[in-house]
Amino acid sequence: MPISLMPLPYGADALDPVISARTLEFHHGKHHQAYVDKTNAAIAEGPLASASLEEIVAAARKDNNAGLFNNAAQTWNHGFYWASLKPGGSAPAGELKSALERDFGSVEAFNTELAARGAAHFGSGWVWLAEKDGKLSIEDSHDADTLADGSANPLLVLDVWEHAYYLDRQNARPAYLDAVIGGLLNWDFAAENFARKSVWTYPA
Ligand code: MN
Repeated sequence: MPISLMPLPYGADALDPVISARTLEFHHGKHHQAYVDKTNAAIAEGPLASASLEEIVAAARKDNNAGLFNNAAQTWNHGFYWASLKPGGSAPAGELKSALERDFGSVEAFNTELAARGAAHFGSGWVWLAEKDGKLSIEDSHDADTLADGSANPLLVLDVWEHAYYLDRQNARPAYLDAVIGGLLNWDFAAENFARKSVWTYPA
């Protein structure tokens, strides 16, 4: 079964003005769609034709198949990113809030560190909140690299590729990060991932 383009969990204009409808239409409808299409073209009629996206990512990494890995991992990362955002955002609560306070000092300190890590990341990639061995940490990954295959349990991710913000903010990545962290983070999604203790799966 081919991998599908995960629908946006909200309308294309629902994150405006932090992320414009124009950015989301290109980012989801062109960039994410292209990663899906290239993944499907690469697996068609081969041994991975009916594999899950997670299985494809793992197999491509194991086989050092960079072309397939990049497209499959980017497909997964974008689904996880859409779910990491929500209109108006939400706030961490309960055990996850306690864990943030334990490992970063405060929610505000976490937000500041996440923005700093995203701003400092060189080139294209992703910044993640993840849990590993019972501890929360901020991870960053280059290009398509992903936490999909379980080196840590990802709770949230932010896309720091230029296509995520360039139409709205040109080169001002820190302004994009501050606005998203301040207003769009989906802490309900993070809490689901935190409680499950296993890696989210991309919808079939
Ligand atoms: Mn992207």
